[in-house]
Amino acid sequence: MTTTLATPVRAGKAAVGALGVLALASGALESVVQPTVPLLQRELDMGPTGGALLSILLPITGALVTPLAGRFGDRYGGKRVLIRLMIVVCVGGTVSALAPGLPVLLAGQVLQGAMVGALPLSFIVVRKHLSAGESKAAIGVVSGLFVGGGMVGMLGEDDEVHAFLNFARPEPPSDVFANPEAQRDLVAAVFADAGWEVPGMLAAMHEADDVFFDGVSQIRMPRWHRGRVALAGDAAYAPSFLTGQGSSLALVGAYMLAGSLADRDHTTGLAAYEDSTREFVAANQGLVGEGGATLFPITAQALEQRNDRLRKLGTTPSAEPRPAHSALTLPEFMPRKPSAG
Ligand SMILES: Cc1cc2nc3c(=O)[nH]c(=O)nc-3n(C[C@H](O)[C@H](O)[C@H](O)COP(=O)(O)OP(=O)(O)OC[C@H]3O[C@@H](n4cnc5c(N)ncnc54)[C@H](O)[C@@H]3O)c2cc1C
Repeated sequence: MTTTLATPVRAGKAAVGALGVLALASGALESVVQPTVPLLQRELDMGPTGGALLSILLPITGALVTPLAGRFGDRYGGKRVLIRLMIVVCVGGTVSALAPGLPVLLAGQVLQGAMVGALPLSFIVVRKHLSAGESKAAIGVVSGLFVGGGMVGMLGEDDEVHAFLNFARPEPPSDVFANPEAQRDLVAAVFADAGWEVPGMLAAMHEADDVFFDGVSQIRMPRWHRGRVALAGDAAYAPSFLTGQGSSLALVGAYMLAGSLADRDHTTGLAAYEDSTREFVAANQGLVGEGGATLFPITAQALEQRNDRLRKLGTTPSAEPRPAHSALTLPEFMPRKPSAG
């Protein structure tokens, strides 16, 4: 039997460029909603629930539409489905722009969210019209521009200033945890003589409606798993920012958890995760006294030493890893071989 393959219709650089621009716009659309939510909340007089709904609608629609777009593109042709998808997105954009209130805006966002479906459709178009080598490069360009577009939302101007005020007490001030006014008063009293820009911060704190007040604590649990459920990171063993090791523990824990499950069943895998990781976690949680003294001193002398060290940071980056940081050598895990049959 002889099969004749149809010669692909060539797509030029301009067509790939156009798909790239589309990917850039799709990524940007995904990312620009989040920073504008507070503004939209004010303009359209919507509450926090409306804002939250608005934030998640685009990604959810995108997640639903992407596989469907790919499937329809395979069946009916990437270009044909892409054109129809863009008509839907244009309608969504118009509806969103003219929305007088939240319900119409949400409907517009659902339609606009379909734009992410352009990504798999672009891949289908590229694969159809370019050779295997060229389509790999074109898919790389399109994917890169999609990610690049996603960064646009981070570039917006943000004139908010956040202040982080810490203080040490022999005992947690449990009497103020449930009383926002008492929290403000306590912070104002502690920093009353602090000087510099602190009086301005304290004045702003009294006006702010998003003050977050809490005690610094660690999570210590006798076990991190039960049945098929296991915890990692802060949920299992938050070491607090006083250790500076929270992200490291979360990443190492996730690695150890995944690796421990790679070559055995969940019962022995989860037990192995705990056995292999607990000592490392305990050592790093134990840094809290040391870290607290270094970063958040409680005597005038220690404060002066810390400030001195910080002033010199620009010229002599301190590189003194503590033993706890490298108390675990990450093992190499081998994925379980698929069972035959
Ligand atoms: C002020 C401060 C300074 C810090 N400084 C450092 C530092 O210098 N170095 C360092 O290593 N660590 C630092 N940490 C700690 C570090 O940020 C955390 O330890 C680390 O982020 C923990 O990672 P995680 O993935 O376990 O949890 P998280 O980063 O908290 O991630 C949990 C995610 O789950 C989401 N989530 C929660 N509930 C739900 C739900 N019901 N459904 C779906 N999603 C949900 C949350 O929104 C969040 O995105 C600091 C922490 C704080 C607060």
